Amino acid sequence: MTNEKCKIVRDLIPLYLDNLSSEESSELIEKHCLECSECQNYLNSAKKEIKTNLQNEETAKRITESLNRQRKHKIIKRTTIISLLIIFTFVFGFACNIAFSNPLPDYLEEYYGKEIFSELKEGYSNKDKQELQPLIKKIKEALNFTGNEKSAEKKFGELACYTPAIHSEMDEVEVVETELSFLTAKLYHDTGYLWIKYSQYGYEKNGDLSFGSADIQSRITLVKYGDEWTAVNVMEAP
Ligand SMILES: [Zn+2]
Repeated sequence: MTNEKCKIVRDLIPLYLDNLSSEESSELIEKHCLECSECQNYLNSAKKEIKTNLQNEETAKRITESLNRQRKHKIIKRTTIISLLIIFTFVFGFACNIAFSNPLPDYLEEYYGKEIFSELKEGYSNKDKQELQPLIKKIKEALNFTGNEKSAEKKFGELACYTPAIHSEMDEVEVVETELSFLTAKLYHDTGYLWIKYSQYGYEKNGDLSFGSADIQSRITLVKYGDEWTAVNVMEAP
């Protein structure tokens, strides 16, 4: 047994274990290992190493697969949650829309015409809204005004149409309750429009309801005189 032979055998062992060695080489290795315990040990530990590597590879594969599965589950879970949230938002939003938005009745579009009516769907700028605050305050005042028709016209001009005196005998009315909300507005250089919604209730001295109207949409045509926005026309569906 020469060291030279051992060297050759050990060089061949990796091929042998990979089943890549020739029949002669394999025979040589097997025969030599029977006679040489050192090479036999070498062969055994090489086999062991391969086995460990295989096991490690398998473990790594299993871990990767498990991680992929978990990741997949996580993605599915996340997608499901997001989908549910989207569906919920839509359904909830839709329900809220029906419940709270008081969809505008069809006759309003007929009354105002398509073009003017579409203003209600347009957004507004806070700057415009801010600029109209004095006018909105004046409308609020008109809605609560308890004077007679003549003084209403003198005080509010075009906005007198919002005073209770226009449709009621004010000497019978004691208390007026109103609600006013801004809908939308647009201001150009010196013209513009404002949409409001209001409710107005008048009560007699004995507490009986004298008149009442709820959720009235009203469009006001505006013109700017000097620094002041003035109502020149009020449109209100009958
Ligand atoms: Zn040997």
